[in-house]
Amino acid sequence: VRQSHDGGVANRVRVTVRLRPRNAEELEADLDFADCVELQPELKRLKLRKNNWDCETYQFDEILTETASQKRVYEVVAKPVVESVLEGYNGTVMAYGQTGTGKTFTLGKLGDEDVADRGIMVRALEDILANVNHVDDTVTVSYLQLYMESVQDLLAPERDNCHIQEDPKTGDVSVPGATQIQLTDHQSFCNLLDMGEANRFAANTKLNTESSRSHAILLVQVKKAVRNKDLVVPNENGNGAKGMRAPTIRRSKLLIVDLAGSERVDKSGSEGHTLEEAKSINLSLTALGKCINALAENSPHVPIRDSKLTRLLRDSFGGTARTSLIVTIGPSPRHRGETTSTIMFGQRAM
Ligand code: ADP
Ligand code: MG
Repeated sequence: VRQSHDGGVANRVRVTVRLRPRNAEELEADLDFADCVELQPELKRLKLRKNNWDCETYQFDEILTETASQKRVYEVVAKPVVESVLEGYNGTVMAYGQTGTGKTFTLGKLGDEDVADRGIMVRALEDILANVNHVDDTVTVSYLQLYMESVQDLLAPERDNCHIQEDPKTGDVSVPGATQIQLTDHQSFCNLLDMGEANRFAANTKLNTESSRSHAILLVQVKKAVRNKDLVVPNENGNGAKGMRAPTIRRSKLLIVDLAGSERVDKSGSEGHTLEEAKSINLSLTALGKCINALAENSPHVPIRDSKLTRLLRDSFGGTARTSLIVTIGPSPRHRGETTSTIMFGQRAM
């Protein structure tokens, strides 16, 4: 982890909790259940009910209730990261939570029936594309799936074991073998995301696994030409033409990560997944948790090399990079155990 640009401590992870509204089944079956959490958004606090008498209170950076709009979620969770990416810093937005609590709804929703439903990925690209100059700036995206410690290109799924490259000098992380598509308008991004999702579904069907067992990673690279008034470039005659401004290229990137379901992965394989799959999910989420912890404690040792997931995040996490974590939870007391461990994961970052 690098020092932040002002020489101070590394940016810590900002953590937001989002509660999913009751779904049809929960509305029907549990009409009289009390939600297992009570939100106090104005105090940025959440009370977790342990039983009818006891509750524990946790503080977060933001609390989003079940009525929060997708627009508001974007503004709270992702917009500050996008702004910092446009200023030249790397950033990460990631969603952590049990399967079915709304990670993909929050990040990946296309909103083709209703634009108000659009998730963070579409809104972020819309924002980035509106804030670059399409003459000399470029925005490119790759869409990856990380499953069992292999990186698969979701835009060319036959490339299922892409190499993660780290520049030894600059520390820049890249996936050179993955497709990079240059974008100019956000509709083409929606089409791309749609195709990536279809490829993800097909690849997982072939492997006989579910998308909740893998991480989906959108990698956005922004190259901005920054005009520097003080630089003089030679004109065609080789003379320095006064007043001409030479652009310098500023690169930054944004990672948006839809993490594998955080539910306790059963190592017995009774839910249809293999022992290897279970180990690999536990490995990457545990490695991520350790890195988030180290950052919160400002520890000099961030164990970033422990998994492919954290290696991919290396230059977009901590240091001068801005990181935003959204933890998603459901209301049902039936999942109290998973909800508790999700909240604890988020809490360790604070
Ligand atoms: P995950 O990706 O965490 O497994 P999903 O995003 O697939 O969860 O959400 C599960 C279901 O709940 C989906 O049908 C989704 O549309 C719905 N859902 C999730 N969050 C919300 C929300 N905030 N408002 C309305 N429906 C939601
Ligand atoms: Mg999902």
